[in-house]
Parts: sequence; C-alpha cells; structure tokens
Amino acid sequence: MAPRTRPDLASIPAYVPGRSFPGAVKLASNETTFGPLPGVRDAVVDAIASANRYPDNSAADLIEALASFLKVEPSNIAVGCGSVTLCQELVQVTCDPGDEVVYAWRSFEAYPVLTQVGHAVSVKVPLTEDFGHDLDAMLAAITDRTRLIFVCNPNNPTGNALSTAELDRFLDAVPSHVVVALDEAYFEYSRGDADGIELLRSRRNVVVLRTFSKAYGLAGVRVGYAVADPELITALGKVHTPFTVSAVAQAAAIASLAAADELLARTDGVIGERARVRAALTEVGYSVPESSANFLYLPLGENSPAFASACAEAGVLIRQYGVEGARVTIGDPAENDLFLAFARSETARELAGVTATS
Ligand SMILES: *Cc1c(COP(=O)(O)O)cnc(C)c1O
Repeated sequence: MAPRTRPDLASIPAYVPGRSFPGAVKLASNETTFGPLPGVRDAVVDAIASANRYPDNSAADLIEALASFLKVEPSNIAVGCGSVTLCQELVQVTCDPGDEVVYAWRSFEAYPVLTQVGHAVSVKVPLTEDFGHDLDAMLAAITDRTRLIFVCNPNNPTGNALSTAELDRFLDAVPSHVVVALDEAYFEYSRGDADGIELLRSRRNVVVLRTFSKAYGLAGVRVGYAVADPELITALGKVHTPFTVSAVAQAAAIASLAAADELLARTDGVIGERARVRAALTEVGYSVPESSANFLYLPLGENSPAFASACAEAGVLIRQYGVEGARVTIGDPAENDLFLAFARSETARELAGVTATS
C-alpha cells in the first residue's frame, strides 16, 4: 500500500522549479540586485564561528534591536524563518478546521496554500478594476467563521498601496475578535503610504508582518518579523518550530538594521528606477498600475504567457500569473534597460497587444 497522506494535498500543486536560463537577468522574485548591506558579511562570519551551538531561540538581541528601531516593546515582536512562516503561524493560531481566512485575489501566492494546509478555508475577494484591495467587499465577506484577514500592502503582485485613512476605516469596521495581518513585505519601498506599526498601536487584533528578504537583500538568509499585541505574540510562540531562525540570520538582521542610511539610499534608487521604467512602458502603450513596491504589474491577460516566454528568450526572467498578467521586479538600471529593450521591441508589443500612444 502507498504511504497514506492527506487526500486534500492532491489539490496542492507539487513544487516545480522554474525553467533555468543560464546567464539570464532575474527580475522574477522581487529580490535586490545588491548583496547584503554594509556590516552584514562580517556579522555573518562572526556568527559562523559558533555554528556548533544552537541559536538563541528567543532571538533576544534581534528583538531588542527591532524594538528600539520600531519604537515598540520587545513583547510586541516575534521573529520567523522569513515572514512566510509567520503567515503560516498566524493561520495555525487563529483557525480551527473549517474556519475562514479572507484575502484579496490576486495577492501573495502563499496565502491559499498556507490556509489549506492549516485546514482552513480561503475566501478570496477579487481586486478592484484598478488592481487594488476592495476593502468594502472584504468587510462584506466576513462571516461567523472568519478568523484571519490578510491585507498585503503594497499588494504583491499588483503594487497598489492603501492609505492610512482607508486602512483606519477598514480596521475600525472589522470585528475586534478577527485578526488582521497587514503584510508589509515591501514597506521599505513605499513613501508616505500607511505604516502598519502606527495602526496597530491602538488595536489588539492587528499584526504587521515585515521581512529582511526584500529591501534588506537577505532573501537567502530567511528572517522576518511580526509586530502585534503581546497576547498574539505569545500565541505565535506556541506554534513556532524551535530554532528555525538561525544564528546567522539573527546576526545578519541586526547588522542590517544598523545600515539604515544605506538602506534608504538603495530604496530611493529603486523608487527612481520604478518611476523611470513605468514612464517608459506607458509611453509605448502599456498600461501599468502605479506601484509602491519594487516591482511593476503588467495586466496582459491572455497575452501574459507568450510575453513572459519571449522575455525569457530575450534574457530576462519575469513572473507570469496564468492568463492574468506578469510582474517585473525593478532591478539595477542596466537590468531594467534590458527589460525595457525587450518591452519596447515590436515583437513584445505585438505579443502584449499594445499600440504606441505617442
Ligand atoms: C516575499 C513576500 C513575503 C515573505 O517573504 P519571506 O522571504 O518569507 O520573508 C511575504 N509576503 C509577501 C507579500 C511577499 O511578497
């Protein structure tokens, strides 16, 4: 007999590694092109010297550093092996089998999988026509079974950000027993948009998720954090797999926080490039929603697969979402130029079905 696993796993696709294009420019995963921030390499090398010891499972030094950086108490912070594990832990601490998790769709790919694996039920609320969160529809989707709401802000993959006023109004209307996770994986790339940390100060049911994987350039090291009321933080600790945030990750994160000026300069650079690439695309006829993150979304509909494959053949990997759209990460100027050279080409514009407006 075959080993018995959960029958419902059949509906979760097995992980398939992407086709590899040696030498291609990778603008598919919202990483930074730069290596780690100054001071991080040295901190990692120091941490490796004690690799024979288990890491501090309470991550006391990192949590202390985050608390002073964010102006909250250490009891307001939990860390995880990437913020995706904190998303998973949130499902685990809020949902009994059959409970509901509400989120916008399309949004972060992990939400449906983590929800199902957690024996909960996804309630997907379509984005608005301009690719933003439909907060009223999300409120209307709340039932007696709703335990958790993910709000990805700015939204991955579409880039839209919500304002403080919009979120305030939404959070005021959500029943106070329903946990709202503000997933701010791209917070460092937004300027003047909502800051979840301010929104949660007066609310016990709001948790903010951030990560060192994106703007901080530590995707390969795996560390993210949650900020919330101490009661939720204590609950997260109960389902946490011990020692999953390595000593190297803790040291790298602490050193990254100390490089705030360099981080700001890097993210300013990406924001400038984001505006330049969006303007160039718009000029040749693409419709591109405004983005507050380090990527742009191209709603190409059924043209998406052909566009993304041709782009890969041209040496640039982007992320394709079925027959809905494609997302391109903002890299360094040379990488962005390579993508623009493709996107401006007649082939690409034909595949995308766009016609020049100027
Ligand atoms: C990348 C990403 C994350 C988490 O990434 P980690 O590497 O696990 O920290 C979480 N949410 C969104 C929306 C993301 O795009």
